[in-house]
Amino acid sequence: MRSSTTFDIQYSHRFYGFKGEAQYLHGHTGVMTIEVEDAINAGVNMVFPCNEIRKIAWEVLKNFDHALVLREDDPLLPAIMGVYEKQGILHGHPQNTMKGEAFDTELARAIPEARIVVTKETMTVEGMIKIVYDLLKDKLNIVKITFNSGVNAASERFEPRERMERCPLCGILLTEDGVCVKCGYRKK
Ligand SMILES: [Zn+2]
Ligand SMILES: [Zn+2]
Repeated sequence: MRSSTTFDIQYSHRFYGFKGEAQYLHGHTGVMTIEVEDAINAGVNMVFPCNEIRKIAWEVLKNFDHALVLREDDPLLPAIMGVYEKQGILHGHPQNTMKGEAFDTELARAIPEARIVVTKETMTVEGMIKIVYDLLKDKLNIVKITFNSGVNAASERFEPRERMERCPLCGILLTEDGVCVKCGYRKK
């Protein structure tokens, strides 16, 4: 059975070195749909409570929301960081509270304090799917990600991984020791 959740992500980026309008900094509201597959969890009769998928995925995705996404070799990156530094907002600001957990992978690095994501490749809709799958594949049994942004859209299917064991009382992922951090259930 599948469960899916949709997210709005507002971001700005540009295609550095691309011959066209997209080489100028611009913004989008992207819509990402993540489909998760797993067994119906007997106790709760759902694949995952939808707010649980949302919570797990949003922890990562909010790094992209109201953020600037630039390729690592884009000269705009040091320029903008310089401006943020002068303005005193590079290392955070009391009103910058909607921060995700920082990540640093082969494909992308999030700097939540500055609302910047640095990517290895140009962040196209296809690139975004690769980055997000890589960040979430160990946390959710993702079988499909669709990303629509402006007139561009892409989707990719993935092989479901091993079943992940979830709490029979509230449906969220159990820790490695078989404990539910939400309700305290312990696997015997
Ligand atoms: Zn664009
Ligand atoms: Zn529980």
